[in-house]
Amino acid sequence: MPSMVQRYLDQIALTCVDADEGQVADYIPELGAVNPDQFGLALAMHRGSLYTVGDAHVPFTIQSVSKPLTYALALSLRGFDAVDAKLGVEPSGEAFNEISVDPATHRPKNPMINAGAIVAASLVCDPNDPAAGFARLLDCYSAFAGRSLVVDEAVYQSEKATGARNRAITYMLESLGILDVDPELAVDLYFRQCSVRVTAEDLAVIAATLAAGGNNPRTGREVCAPHIVRRVLSVMTTCGMYDGAGDWVSAVGLPAKSGVSGAVLAVLPGQLGIGVFSPRLDEHGNSVRGVTACRRLSSDLGLHMFNVVGEGRATVRSSYDIREVPSETPRDGRDEAILRARRDRVRVYDLQGPLTFTSMESVLQRLDSDSQRFDAAILNLGRVETADALSRGMLFGMHAQLENSGRLGLVVDPDRVLSREAGAWTLDAVRQGKLMAAVESARTHVYPSLSEAVSAAEDFLLAGPRLR
Ligand code: GLN
Repeated sequence: MPSMVQRYLDQIALTCVDADEGQVADYIPELGAVNPDQFGLALAMHRGSLYTVGDAHVPFTIQSVSKPLTYALALSLRGFDAVDAKLGVEPSGEAFNEISVDPATHRPKNPMINAGAIVAASLVCDPNDPAAGFARLLDCYSAFAGRSLVVDEAVYQSEKATGARNRAITYMLESLGILDVDPELAVDLYFRQCSVRVTAEDLAVIAATLAAGGNNPRTGREVCAPHIVRRVLSVMTTCGMYDGAGDWVSAVGLPAKSGVSGAVLAVLPGQLGIGVFSPRLDEHGNSVRGVTACRRLSSDLGLHMFNVVGEGRATVRSSYDIREVPSETPRDGRDEAILRARRDRVRVYDLQGPLTFTSMESVLQRLDSDSQRFDAAILNLGRVETADALSRGMLFGMHAQLENSGRLGLVVDPDRVLSREAGAWTLDAVRQGKLMAAVESARTHVYPSLSEAVSAAEDFLLAGPRLR
């Protein structure tokens, strides 16, 4: 069943790989040597399901996507007051490697530009045992990713050998009295953190952990406190995409962070995390295809954080088979005997809340894990207030997919939620009229009441497997 989600992602990915503009970062040979055509996309849901496309398992260095994680660690270790005394939360509107601080306070404007990231790194350093300080940082990143991460030694050595500008920034911070540790220790930790190796799948899981308030949905481990996650997501929203931040928030509407390796991480709070990897960069240093993919995902799947639909949780309110709710339709003795033996093969799912991509994805997962338990499934929308265009497509797609496996999918829609206007859905399927065809063919399977749907499901049971 979740393969429907997989198909959406495959389609979206196809529209992104056309973009071949931009330049691969080449300030160190290791980054310049990558295959520029690579494209990996991963989506991790807040309940733990995971989807990947293309080069989602190809490793690359995390680069600036490390900045929000080190900031989170600094806040956890030092507390808000100590961190805020040295580091602001205002967007700078400047390039990532600008040598800039606030003229009055001398604090770097925010932790997403290099100056701020180096201050955050200085706050997690352990001057008595630098190796232990870095081990703690790597443990934190690994907990976010849900697996043990390692450093790319060659990238680290190159960053260190060529990092004149980052050293200049660090010594400026030292001259202003912002650093409490040896500047070399701080900048060295920063070079190491940029060189941690990840995949697009790791980025998606890290993002989903932020989306779930600091709880890694793959491992179940509490990685970071919710109030810290809230701060980190706030700063990512205003500063994560560098000087393109305003346009990003308007068009994509997801807290995000990019890195010069071509990494983009984006978070839909409460719902999901996205990881993209594609090395060619635009003039801001953001991955061209990474930005394109996030724009497409946001508009096609309705992911803008300010879509006012409520949250994506608790969609299946209850589930039971129809022995509890047999239809009133009169049956003769033989049919009634068959139904008595088989009513447990029809399951009803009472749904609640707004239907969105995220909530429908969890419904599909539920049907998939229950798939041995039913021959017909009835989705009861009695408590659903709204269904966006994509979720309707998924509902009708569910029907077609069950039909392919010889089963039946029925929808109960007493308040006619599905026939209300819901705006356009823009994927190719719609342009080609495929979704509309699915809607047409599904129309006969939408019932105004549960008892009518139950009666139709009983007819289906009586027809027996051979006739289906
Ligand atoms: N290592 C890079 C630097 O500090 C990371 C920058 C980035 O990803 N934007 O210059």
